[in-house]
Amino acid sequence: MELLKERIRKDGVIKEGNVLKVDSFLNHQMDIKLLNEIGKEFKRLFAGEKIDKILTIEASGIGIAAIVAQYFDVPVVFAKKSESINLDGEMLTAPITSFTHKKEYQVIVAKRFLHAGENILVIDDFMANGCAAEGLCKIIQSAGANIKGIGIVIEKGFQDGGKMLREKGLRVESLAIVESMDAENQTIVFRDDT
Ligand code: 5GP
Repeated sequence: MELLKERIRKDGVIKEGNVLKVDSFLNHQMDIKLLNEIGKEFKRLFAGEKIDKILTIEASGIGIAAIVAQYFDVPVVFAKKSESINLDGEMLTAPITSFTHKKEYQVIVAKRFLHAGENILVIDDFMANGCAAEGLCKIIQSAGANIKGIGIVIEKGFQDGGKMLREKGLRVESLAIVESMDAENQTIVFRDDT
């Protein structure tokens, strides 16, 4: 998605440790016009699929998924990262190792919001090692629902998540795939076909 790649080139900041910061338009301050274009692009890519619900993970995924969901006209469910007093009833859980925070935690979705046979699209901001997306897929499977695809805004193609999930036969659509990036020179190379 050319518009997104241009924006990453212009405003993305490459940090040591393979972290790309896009907090001026995606992760902290959010450019809603760009997010609408992202929503339209996911809708175009998954046009052939019947989607009943979007599943994402707090926190950064929520705003993105909420806008994307308007183009699919479906609800958003977001997985929570810790148990809270607001959670009741039966829970679906999966362990996730956070790329940015380097710690393991459980992600939790109340069972009553994911039903057997529903068609679910996973949406998230980044894909690195694929842990977050894989955890969400495990939750979908444990609900007996169908994983219709995984939509990622920015995939870091030099990390293994995308490869690992595609090899499992899952459909992963990333709007920009970073092939390589260099923190010292602040240069970034995208895969041609995104
Ligand atoms: P994974 O589980 O695929 O290793 O990492 C994906 C999650 O880690 C995403 O939900 C995202 O929040 C965070 N993440 C991974 N890499 C980056 C990055 O380079 N920049 C930012 N801002 N977040 C990242």
